[in-house]
Amino acid sequence: MVMDSRNNEKKIAIVGAGISGLECAKILINNGFNVTVFDKQSEVGGRMRTSEIDGFLLDHGFHVLQTAYPETSKQIDYKSLDCKPFKAGARVVLLKNGKARMKLMADPWRDPIRGVLSSLNGFLSIKDLLRIGLMRLSITRGKINQLFDGSDETTLDFLQRRKLSDNAINRFFLPLFGGIFLESKLQTSERLFRFIFRMMAKGKMVLPKDGIRSVPLSIAKEVGQDNIRLGVEISRIEEKALRFRGEAHRFDLVIKAFSEPTDEDGKHVWTIHFDAPSSPMRSKHILLNSNLIDSSSIVSHVAVPSDVQPSYAPSGRSLVTATVVGDRAKEMGFETRESVEQAVRNDLGQWFGDGTVSTWKTLAIQHITHALPISSSGKRLTNLPRNGEDTIECGDHMLHGSVEGAILSGRNSALIAINRLTNNTETVQGPVKKV
Ligand SMILES: Cc1cc2nc3c(=O)[nH]c(=O)nc-3n(C[C@H](O)[C@H](O)[C@H](O)COP(=O)(O)OP(=O)(O)OC[C@H]3O[C@@H](n4cnc5c(N)ncnc54)[C@H](O)[C@@H]3O)c2cc1C
Repeated sequence: MVMDSRNNEKKIAIVGAGISGLECAKILINNGFNVTVFDKQSEVGGRMRTSEIDGFLLDHGFHVLQTAYPETSKQIDYKSLDCKPFKAGARVVLLKNGKARMKLMADPWRDPIRGVLSSLNGFLSIKDLLRIGLMRLSITRGKINQLFDGSDETTLDFLQRRKLSDNAINRFFLPLFGGIFLESKLQTSERLFRFIFRMMAKGKMVLPKDGIRSVPLSIAKEVGQDNIRLGVEISRIEEKALRFRGEAHRFDLVIKAFSEPTDEDGKHVWTIHFDAPSSPMRSKHILLNSNLIDSSSIVSHVAVPSDVQPSYAPSGRSLVTATVVGDRAKEMGFETRESVEQAVRNDLGQWFGDGTVSTWKTLAIQHITHALPISSSGKRLTNLPRNGEDTIECGDHMLHGSVEGAILSGRNSALIAINRLTNNTETVQGPVKKV
């Protein structure tokens, strides 16, 4: 892109300082435009935030970056964020006669001998392993955009079409992907499943040293503090105007970088963070709950971020993070903070021992509503540029609910905006009275 000095006469407003709005702003500023990003919150990052409590770093919802995200890995310098990986594969908790056993499920394609042995040592059959291998082969080949073509049924349909056993689906894919999609029936489009499965197969899940907030903070640094106005709620958006604090303001272009909440909760999730004297895990894996289907337990997965990034906990302590998918909690009748915390403590007590868990202090109970856009089958999720009708619009809701979807959408919108503005030489002057 050739930078035109006349671009800086063009004023662009972006509403939303989540990663999509920030990424869009960064590209427009790099192309010489005069950009202001507005956000109603007092900090940047939108859904990617981290709080500090008693020396712990608590991400808002368990959040990881995938090193295989194609656009994100180009735009975000994972090295400068000092990202560290979880181990590939997972541990799976199995309950038998009231006793919990933690099975290792090493990734057979990265660690073949341990992987095959550990997978068969649990509930996957040889047939499952072969079918997962074939599925992996077909999903990791070809272009990423092809994953979003063709069939658009649910993830559950897709796994059943692949003839995976009920055990493999309910005990492995349900806790893992339910915890990623934030819904407990695997009704999310198979397109998103294929995309995330490929990311996991090709890369690693990592955490930045200073919390997930460091992703938006690193983009905001490039945008520049002077170009970001926080604590400003926009009450009306038009193609070339905004209304806030009772006044109308004109711009050459307005970009909307958020979605309107569509129903009461959207997809929601409970995340409970505990301060523990030591890690209950023997390795840097995520622990999946394989008992969701036939028991009253509610935790999808547990992670110990401080095992991967010691900066997440003060010295000598561990941060244990449990994730409960919102619709599962609701279905089981757990809708208050107290009842969800108690149900989580019951699950973890069974797994790690009541005596151990009773020494853990609850640091935070987060209930995050509108956590992800609904990505059910038939929504025609895409990885290709998609635009708003009048105003230009970006955000994960425009492509798919992930960091990659948000960053890619921010980039697409910036390119559409550059195209529109460089074909139109008019500029606007000063505020107008009515919007
Ligand atoms: C709990 C949880 C876990 C997740 N885990 C992962 C993960 O592990 N891996 C992954 O890839 N993705 C994950 N995601 C998804 C990822 O966080 C999102 O896709 C991404 O942050 C969306 O960014 P965005 O810019 O599209 O939207 P947002 O972050 O929602 O940004 C929109 C911004 O617009 C602002 N805004 C809205 N209305 C107005 C208004 N009227 N005036 C001014 N400002 C306004 C909001 O305050 C907000 O800051 C997770 C999300 C959640 C919630």
